[in-house]
Amino acid sequence: MDRSSANFKAFSQIVNEFVSALWKRRTYNIFENWYCLFGVLWGIPVPIVTIGIDLHSSALQITLSNIIQIILSRPFHVFFLLHPIFFGIVFGAMGTVRYNKEQEIEEFEKSLISKNAELAQKNDRLRELDRLKSNFLSMVSHELRTPLTTIQGYISFLLTEKAGAINKAQREFLEISGDSADLLNRLIEDLLDLSKIESGRFKVNLTTVDMANIIDKAMLSRRLFADKQGVTMENNIPDNLPSVQADGERIFQVITNILENSIKFNQKGGKVVITASIRPGGKVVFCISDTGIGIPGDKIGKVFDKFYQVDSSGKRKYGGCGLGLTISKSIVGLHNGRIWIESEVGVGSRFFFELPSAS
Ligand code: ADP
Repeated sequence: MDRSSANFKAFSQIVNEFVSALWKRRTYNIFENWYCLFGVLWGIPVPIVTIGIDLHSSALQITLSNIIQIILSRPFHVFFLLHPIFFGIVFGAMGTVRYNKEQEIEEFEKSLISKNAELAQKNDRLRELDRLKSNFLSMVSHELRTPLTTIQGYISFLLTEKAGAINKAQREFLEISGDSADLLNRLIEDLLDLSKIESGRFKVNLTTVDMANIIDKAMLSRRLFADKQGVTMENNIPDNLPSVQADGERIFQVITNILENSIKFNQKGGKVVITASIRPGGKVVFCISDTGIGIPGDKIGKVFDKFYQVDSSGKRKYGGCGLGLTISKSIVGLHNGRIWIESEVGVGSRFFFELPSAS
């Protein structure tokens, strides 16, 4: 709708409201609607002034008979005499329109207040459900962790052959079971972290951290996986990198998660490179780039959402549960840092995160 037709619509609505007010009793009730009384008072000077001018120009005295004579000799004075009534009607109708509007606003306010109360109630309920869900998540994760630790312990023990010799096939099966148990353990850790984040119990312990050391350890921890996937890893961080103010364990978690993704969403012969640079203002920016499948532009903002995976189809071939980046974002956020992604489908992705330097 263009501006002029919108104006016309608003104007015709006002006219309609005014005309319908003319049929309301309230319009003419000077006790309920002081606009009407005001209109009458406003109109009274009109016949007084016009008849007064006429009397004066005819050099007549102000007497009742002269006034009647003037009115009879010039009938247009009847029109002026009716002015207090006209004004009373017009002002009265305006008063009714205003009254109707005020009533509408009052109704609207009442409905807003009750909607607000309803929303507040629903919000409380949602908060309660969220709290119950976080408690449930935390309880289930704890309950799963205990038997899993036992399973991992026995697998490691059997692999040491202290309980008896094992053959090649048995070793292979135990190693596969161990890998699966590790995977399950990581999933449980992620769920526990998520429940801590959601309940505000997720904390970082900031100290001065040598990132070169952490990056070496993270790369070492993912070396086997990278070899298995046929992906090479390269560490290109400069020697003069300043220490950062960080929680070493948590930042290790961020790097291993990004590294794991860069290897997982890569192809045989692909590459993962870590670089770092110092920004003016004392920030250190780390970049982990890969030559993998990339992320479509409209999905980049979503990969930090909990449980979000670009490939959420039933035939997902990469595994994972979509929590790594959610947790990484929270960790970097607790360091007053930023994390962001640049990516191109079929070319690769670059994950950046920024931390404050310790100096
Ligand atoms: P997960 O890896 O367990 O699915 P994340 O939170 O770590 O969960 O990642 C969320 C999603 O972001 C992944 O499922 C994947 O779709 C996408 N993603 C993350 N890293 C990369 C990457 N390096 N290349 C392509 N896609 C990625």
